[in-house]
Amino acid sequence: MEESYRRFARQIALPGFGIEAQRKLASSSVLVAGVGGLGGPLALELAAAGVGELTLVHEGDLTLEDLNRQVLMPEDGLGRPRAELAKEAIRRFSKTTRVHTISGFVRDLDLDALQPKPDLIVDCRHNFEDREALGLFAVRTQTPLLELAMYAFEGQVVLLDPPRTPCLFCLFPSFPSWNPRFGVLGAHAGLMGCLGALVAVSFLGMGVKEYYGILGLIRALPLEVKKIKLKKRPGCVCQAC
Ligand SMILES: [Zn+2]
Repeated sequence: MEESYRRFARQIALPGFGIEAQRKLASSSVLVAGVGGLGGPLALELAAAGVGELTLVHEGDLTLEDLNRQVLMPEDGLGRPRAELAKEAIRRFSKTTRVHTISGFVRDLDLDALQPKPDLIVDCRHNFEDREALGLFAVRTQTPLLELAMYAFEGQVVLLDPPRTPCLFCLFPSFPSWNPRFGVLGAHAGLMGCLGALVAVSFLGMGVKEYYGILGLIRALPLEVKKIKLKKRPGCVCQAC
């Protein structure tokens, strides 16, 4: 095995994985929108798996209330930009992955100007303005979009790849009103983040399509799992492309 891949030997040994999946991960770029309780553990697992480049987007500085779930953020980082703190945590863990950061809201970005261009977008945002911006960008550029969401002890995961699958706006023709300061336990956010990382890594490396156009609804307490095959919504924005 190539020396540079030695740290990944245990996953290369997985059935269906192998050196080819590792090479694909190494040449992949992922945009992780939101590196809080959900996206933070996800980003770390992407780096652990050997994804080549990560672009982390998150607004604002670290506050005391973030620390029950944003496990990439150290206590002595209070008052510092969360995107930078997440990058530092990932860099301490692995020098293999190149990490870029943007401190701000997704909706304020020129997503077309992103370098490198993402092979996959992961949406871990807690507000619908940012989700809408990512959803429109995914439709327009035909970039796969992994949607993750959670509320209380429930979570959702779906991989959208319009026009091959329905898009975000097939799923949500309109967005509900929303209080972004909902209650959240770090362990549950981490559970959904790690599931998202598993979906991302298996898709990018092995072409696995377990959640491809299929909405996974996972309630952790009490445990309940459902899968729903999504349908394209007539007249949706994704059908104008
Ligand atoms: Zn659509």
